Amino acid sequence: MPNRWWPFLRRGAREFLHALWSALAPPHCPACGVACEGLCPSCAGALRSRAGPWCRRCGEPLPPGLPCGRRHAALRGLRFARAPFRYRGAGGALVRRLKFRKDLGAGRILARAMAGMLREWVRNEGRRALVVAVPLHPARLRRRRFDQTAWLAAEVGRRLGLEVAAGVLRRRRDTLPQGDVRVVSRVRNVAGAFVVERSRAVAGRWIVLVDDVATSGATARACGEVLRAAGARHVVLLTAADAGLGMRADAGWGARR
Ligand SMILES: [Zn+2]
Ligand SMILES: [Zn+2]
Repeated sequence: MPNRWWPFLRRGAREFLHALWSALAPPHCPACGVACEGLCPSCAGALRSRAGPWCRRCGEPLPPGLPCGRRHAALRGLRFARAPFRYRGAGGALVRRLKFRKDLGAGRILARAMAGMLREWVRNEGRRALVVAVPLHPARLRRRRFDQTAWLAAEVGRRLGLEVAAGVLRRRRDTLPQGDVRVVSRVRNVAGAFVVERSRAVAGRWIVLVDDVATSGATARACGEVLRAAGARHVVLLTAADAGLGMRADAGWGARR
């Protein structure tokens, strides 16, 4: 058998086994994996999605009537950011299960909560917004075979009745993951990494930029910058989980607003 078919056969076999396992595996909590139907009580308790009122800019919950004390430097160029969960505990576990195990049960919990964060905004202002996913580099997608961010973007768009555009952004360098210990500056790691491939699709539109996790916000700022340069009206950031964007300034990032 020609050698070049071997990777495809191996991938097919792996995907078949994965599908078989998913069909036969006993029901499990999509956050921690214990045997039960749906979220187990302890994860469900830990996973309360943030409820309003929240800061209109960074999405952190706020006591009613109080201004947000955060500097919002991480959100420069983005109209606002929302994430239903913190990237720790059950929220982080759901993201990792979607990303590394392609657990779509976990993904649906994330997508439902993400859509819930924007539902009112879509009704009032964002009816014509375009959903765009932060792209993986093609080489990374070939290695991983599953793009959790594109999956979340499609699922959120479907739930909100918004148009989802694939292939709008392209990652032209395979950057290190932002959480990698070798990354000294998250801003420099993604500088110039993204290009807009379909300017006409974004011109004049509100963009809902979807990513799985936001830590420093540097990736979202880099995407927001090229989208606005291509004519997008505003860019809002929607992630499944964040590390507290309003509070965290990136290393190598000035304090200017
Ligand atoms: Zn659990
Ligand atoms: Zn804020």
